[in-house]
Amino acid sequence: KESIMDGVNYNAEMPSENPDDSIAKTAFHKLQEERKTLPIYPYREELLRAVQTHQVIVIVGETGSGKTTQIPQYLHEAGYTKRGQVGCTQPRRVAAMSVAARVSQEMGVKLGHEVGYSIRFEDCTSEKTIMKYMTDGMLLREFLSEPDLASYSVIMVDEAHERTLSTDILFGLVKDICRFRKDLKLLISSATLDALKFSDYFDSAPIFTIPGRRYPVEIHYTTAPEADYIDAAIVTVLQIHVTQPPGDILVFLTGQEEIETVDEILKHRTRGLGTKIAELIICPIYANLPTELQAKIFEPTPEGARKVVLATNIAETSLTIDGIKYVVDPGFCKIKSFNPRTGMESLLVNPISRASARQRAGRSGRTGPGKCFRLYTAYNFQNDLDENTVPEIQRTNLANVVLTLKSLGINDLVNFDFMDPPPSEALLKALEQLYALNALNSRGELTKTGRRMAEFPLDPMLSKMIVASEKYKCSEEVISIASMLSVGNSIFYRPKDKQVHADNAKMNFHTGNVGDHIALLNVYHVYNSWKETNYSTQWCYENYIQVRSMKRGRDIRDQLEGLLERVEIEPTSNLSDLDAVKKAITSGFFHHSAKLQKTGAYKTVKNPQTVLPRWVIYHELVLTTKEYMRQVTELKPEWLIEIAPHFYQLKDVEDAATKKLPRGKGMAAD
Ligand code: ADP
Ligand code: MG
Repeated sequence: KESIMDGVNYNAEMPSENPDDSIAKTAFHKLQEERKTLPIYPYREELLRAVQTHQVIVIVGETGSGKTTQIPQYLHEAGYTKRGQVGCTQPRRVAAMSVAARVSQEMGVKLGHEVGYSIRFEDCTSEKTIMKYMTDGMLLREFLSEPDLASYSVIMVDEAHERTLSTDILFGLVKDICRFRKDLKLLISSATLDALKFSDYFDSAPIFTIPGRRYPVEIHYTTAPEADYIDAAIVTVLQIHVTQPPGDILVFLTGQEEIETVDEILKHRTRGLGTKIAELIICPIYANLPTELQAKIFEPTPEGARKVVLATNIAETSLTIDGIKYVVDPGFCKIKSFNPRTGMESLLVNPISRASARQRAGRSGRTGPGKCFRLYTAYNFQNDLDENTVPEIQRTNLANVVLTLKSLGINDLVNFDFMDPPPSEALLKALEQLYALNALNSRGELTKTGRRMAEFPLDPMLSKMIVASEKYKCSEEVISIASMLSVGNSIFYRPKDKQVHADNAKMNFHTGNVGDHIALLNVYHVYNSWKETNYSTQWCYENYIQVRSMKRGRDIRDQLEGLLERVEIEPTSNLSDLDAVKKAITSGFFHHSAKLQKTGAYKTVKNPQTVLPRWVIYHELVLTTKEYMRQVTELKPEWLIEIAPHFYQLKDVEDAATKKLPRGKGMAAD
């Protein structure tokens, strides 16, 4: 037994069969010393006393003060894990994984044993797990199987300031549980100072503040607005690199694509400079970055070199990266928004809020004085940015949470205890959509279909498509498609120097002009045919398919298969009748139908001269500078009437000479 915290008898097992035992031991002790240097450490006892005295507390502390990694450990050391698990929610998958990995290291245990994480489609926990990091969405789903969260002794809703949709719903649910489970401790932790709002909501819960160590940050603005913030960011990074004293750089970008672009350009430009400049180590971090590469951002920068971290919003508060001295803030992030009138959701690049800008700047002043380069003007900051980001619940499609709440037996959504209620049109739209999907009946009650849909951790349209596959006897195909769609947009890759080859390879899966959904099915099908020989990596390479995405798709599919069994849908295959598969897809996605005119935007390979408007179903609509549909499959318009007669009428789908569309239903993409 090792005693590593003052006055705490801690019994983590030391790595013992390791030949490098003494090295491991030294590293372990070094971590313990590091833990004691965190700003939260002096408040350990006081915090534990507060938890003992109060059922709910709100904790505020600067990013990097040790809230996420230390508080669950303190609670464990104080014995809370003897009564149940300590659960800690994170808005982001990467944060949940990364923090769990760190805490398992600090405790000297294997990840997935005492310390684990749970994110959608990936459960890295075991019987042994007593400290569990998870996404807020996963905890929400746990309510379905355990409405009183009986297996937990403490719930820490972390990063509360992010106000994600799931976090906001969790607030209402955990607040309710606290009324009848007096033994449950609830911690709400936030990086920003607006803790009063949380405290008010939780019946005046006490606020525990961890004073941060903050060094001054010098803010630099541009004198004129930047036309191209990507280019400006690159130039700024290079300028910092050649003119500023040592210290790492953190650049905030809006997504994977931007990060890859900047990564590439920076590599190219620094290569040109050769040995004239110090080494610049480029570390990207975003949600879909493979786990192996995520750890790279935490590796210490070698002497003489400089690290530049290209991050999404994830580095704003969720992940703390040590050694950052310079922040480059272009002032943008991707924000989801939903138009309740049209029912359309979009993910658009938007200016950040002033609160975000302050958080970002703060990342440079954690370990010493820092500098923040804002790629916008002081005037922009003062006059054009909003003070705070609008909570997600007020700008998103609510169909998924409404379905979850209904399956929890919460019928009266209007009177649900929301911290900030969603717009009533958005609630109404969600109810309408679920009704159209036959998940709710006309009284707004959950139907059998709805109950089955709720079992799937997917958007209602996807789960409906799966449930509908029973009728069309093609559940095997449909879960393959659903898992390929859930992997995201990363099945195919298209290297810049081999685009033609990549496109040709992709076209092979479209033979017969089957549409994107069936093409994905074809990909999975061939991939799976290599099952006996351990899934051919060679085949993936030759066909420009990402091995990792396929592996993930396979994992997801296994889980969906298990869920099929749970809702008692027979695994059936109907490969000879692709129309059946498409009808199942249509059953879920009939809201996403579009009538395409013959334009350059949509050209079929087989009948390029066809003049008839075609009907398609799409998986999602992406709004960038233009609107485009992602994953498109042609369908017969009469299916819409066959499958969703309550939604489409004959006049809606008849090919009239006019381009008029069914009002408020479907959309045109001409
Ligand atoms: P907070 O939640 O208050 O923002 P954290 O508990 O996340 O703070 O971070 C405390 C310390 O742990 C920081 O110094 C950070 O650098 C370190 N840390 C957190 N996660 C990791 C990780 N995955 N790898 C290395 N260090 C980490
Ligand atoms: Mg944290």
